[in-house]
Amino acid sequence: MKLEPKNYCSIVKNISNKMANINTITNCFGCGVCATACPKDIISIIQNREGFYVPNITNIDVCIDCGICLRVCSFAKEGLATESPKPIHSYAAWSQDTSIRKQCSSGGIGFEIGRTLIASGYKVCGVRYDAEKGIAEHYISSSEEELKQTIGSKYLQSYTFNGFKAIDRKGKYLVTGTPCQIDSFRRYIRKFRIEDNFILIDFFCHAVPSMNAWRRYMDMVEKKIGKITYASWRNKFTGWHDSWAMSMIGSSTSDRASDNTAGQGNWNSRLSEGDIFYRLFLGDYCSNPACSRNCKFKYDRSSADIRIGDLWGNTYAANEDGVSAAVAFTEAGDAVLRQSGCMLIEHPFDVVAEGQMKKNVRPAYTSGIAVRLLRNANVPLDSIVWKLVFFTEKVLKFAERKTIKRKAR
Ligand SMILES: Cc1cc2nc3c(=O)[nH]c(=O)nc-3n(C[C@H](O)[C@H](O)[C@H](O)COP(=O)(O)OP(=O)(O)OC[C@H]3O[C@@H](n4cnc5c(N)ncnc54)[C@H](O)[C@@H]3O)c2cc1C
Ligand code: SF4
Ligand code: SF4
Repeated sequence: MKLEPKNYCSIVKNISNKMANINTITNCFGCGVCATACPKDIISIIQNREGFYVPNITNIDVCIDCGICLRVCSFAKEGLATESPKPIHSYAAWSQDTSIRKQCSSGGIGFEIGRTLIASGYKVCGVRYDAEKGIAEHYISSSEEELKQTIGSKYLQSYTFNGFKAIDRKGKYLVTGTPCQIDSFRRYIRKFRIEDNFILIDFFCHAVPSMNAWRRYMDMVEKKIGKITYASWRNKFTGWHDSWAMSMIGSSTSDRASDNTAGQGNWNSRLSEGDIFYRLFLGDYCSNPACSRNCKFKYDRSSADIRIGDLWGNTYAANEDGVSAAVAFTEAGDAVLRQSGCMLIEHPFDVVAEGQMKKNVRPAYTSGIAVRLLRNANVPLDSIVWKLVFFTEKVLKFAERKTIKRKAR
């Protein structure tokens, strides 16, 4: 068949569309940076059936094949935005403001850096929980008061688009996020040659759980306490080492959960007592497949200026107030840490990173069943079906341990 130039062009355009934009990308990190960068504003970030954010081109005919979405995409690229990152200084860190330290997940270093930079003219793009929508989302704060909503880890995949899009490329910003979000964001600011205006923070990152797990958990809790108006994932009521704890307030109360007693309208549930959201999340029943298959950011692999986290490990094993790990990867990051007003104690990197994962999460044996069940609102999390899933997992793990022991003999 002889191709008319018009047809030929459209075939070439279709091929190049496949090559030059994120249309063919599925099950990615869901960082949202492609949508932020697209000059035609034709990429939206939607949730897939499994409950993870993915990009979607809404009007392919408007695409100009500029390739920017792919250029800023950490998932589509080999390696990190920062080649061979090296920790230059590693610290144990904590806020000297006891009320901040008490509220934050570890030592409060994230908040203190934000507070310091706001005082010197920066804005902060961090994560808050929107109880109305039931999602974690990036947003901009320009004052210490607004920054308070970033306090505390929200163990959900954050919807970045509105926060990232609201960043004025001429301003100065601190941006915090998961390492994959930050790696793409680094590529974005490099593309527009505005890196000097930004300080980037990521954290040692386990994985992100499916939003379907969160929705099923909310369904279960709301049956007991009414519409959730406040949620927090960590509290130190029984000490920092036992701080994996969900505290929620439902519409049937007006009091904020201020102690560890479950009253009417309050929900308090700890991992150490079998909290089901944490069992699903930390048991890797519902982690993003990209976290197990494609994550390239474990341990000392970061494109941020600073990496933070919980300083687990022997050195601070007796501390119950909370100690942050803080690792500077750039001189700019180190300068910011030193200005933060936090207590900083320098240690070798392996002391600060003790207990952090070196390998990607491995999905639970029953994760395939779990992910399918989580799609279905008619299978409540407190049903017998879930008890069976957890029981089967235990049996399979036990069998695996037995086989390993037998082989080792
Ligand atoms: C999904 C997830 C997995 C994590 N995995 C680990 C881990 O394996 N090991 C470890 O040591 N630490 C991990 N952390 C980080 C840890 O929970 C604390 O955030 C860290 O110790 C800093 O605490 P902080 O006391 O400085 O401040 P906090 O006030 O608790 O700081 C919270 C900071 O994290 C940001 N943030 C909160 N929720 C999210 C989110 N959903 N997505 C992106 N950014 C968010 C906020 O903007 C804020 O800057 C994880 C955090 C998240 C959100
Ligand atoms: S190639 Fe350019 S115009 Fe097309 S979706 Fe990507 S960023 Fe947008
Ligand atoms: S585990 Fe890796 S891929 Fe998953 S959210 Fe964290 S940084 Fe991103």
